[in-house]
Amino acid sequence: MHCVCRAVHGLAVAVRKNRLSSRVKSIVDQSSSGSILISDGAWGTLLHGKDLKPGECPELWCVEHRADVLQIPSSYIAAGADIVGTNSFGGSRLKLQAYGLAERAAELNRAAAEISREAAGPNHHVLASIGPTGKMLAMGDISEKELYGAFCEQAVALEQGGADGCCIETMSAVDEAEIAVRAVRENTGLEIACTFTFDRTLSGEYRTMMGVSPVEMARAMIDAGAAIIGTNCGNGIEGMIEIVREIRSEVPDVPILVNANAGMPVLVAGRDVFPDTPEVMAGLVGALVEAGANIIGGCCGTTPAHIAAIVAAAKGIPARRAEP
Ligand SMILES: [Zn+2]
Repeated sequence: MHCVCRAVHGLAVAVRKNRLSSRVKSIVDQSSSGSILISDGAWGTLLHGKDLKPGECPELWCVEHRADVLQIPSSYIAAGADIVGTNSFGGSRLKLQAYGLAERAAELNRAAAEISREAAGPNHHVLASIGPTGKMLAMGDISEKELYGAFCEQAVALEQGGADGCCIETMSAVDEAEIAVRAVRENTGLEIACTFTFDRTLSGEYRTMMGVSPVEMARAMIDAGAAIIGTNCGNGIEGMIEIVREIRSEVPDVPILVNANAGMPVLVAGRDVFPDTPEVMAGLVGALVEAGANIIGGCCGTTPAHIAAIVAAAKGIPARRAEP
């Protein structure tokens, strides 16, 4: 299945390939040569810090508050991140329609990627964010074709804006994530990462909201064509170690990306406070690499200070090379 938007983005693909060949290696190449790469931290947390109001569309800020958005990837690059995301987590038309902005999906995603590209310059990677649509195939909310078309439109626009890759993140359902990976793979040249969010069950196992295990996720996403797999959000960096170990035991040679929350938020005076300090997170980086992680960053509640601490901790830790 191909999407009509494919026809209009040949130029962007050529520009991106040229960038990769002339300057930096791909994320996969860099990880498989043994480097530990550091990705960025939270976006939502920082946008709320810049006065994004509850109920306001974060992606609209890419055009209406461009300078504020640009400060986010710039601050992560300054903290030492190798990879930054984009302000496009809810950028599919299926999410934007709640704000009456579905028809601006391409424009907003293009703007999101352009902003992060500007911050990243030629020497850092832009791994654009693609979040869940909020529609469940299993519930009959939507057809496969509509889902595919929405992911295709978003990914093509992100590539046009200058992204090197995308991270299909915070996923919980295999079917939706498979369609997203396929839509990106069949319509763009983006490097594809896919990360799921797991919770610990009462019996102590990790499962997504839809009951998917880390190993099931890993096999399905590699089969679908993801080049990087992993986990994001969740309950904090400590639980990520076990999740990574499970994935690594089944998958010896695919880079694993971990973007952990700064712990489980607690409500203090009506707002979410994340308990894990930069020092707490940095203290677990060694164990995460030992478990098999190749790319480490943060999710909700993490800040440039967390990323700077993770960068410092990762320096000098030799990445465990994937076994053949
Ligand atoms: Zn998160």
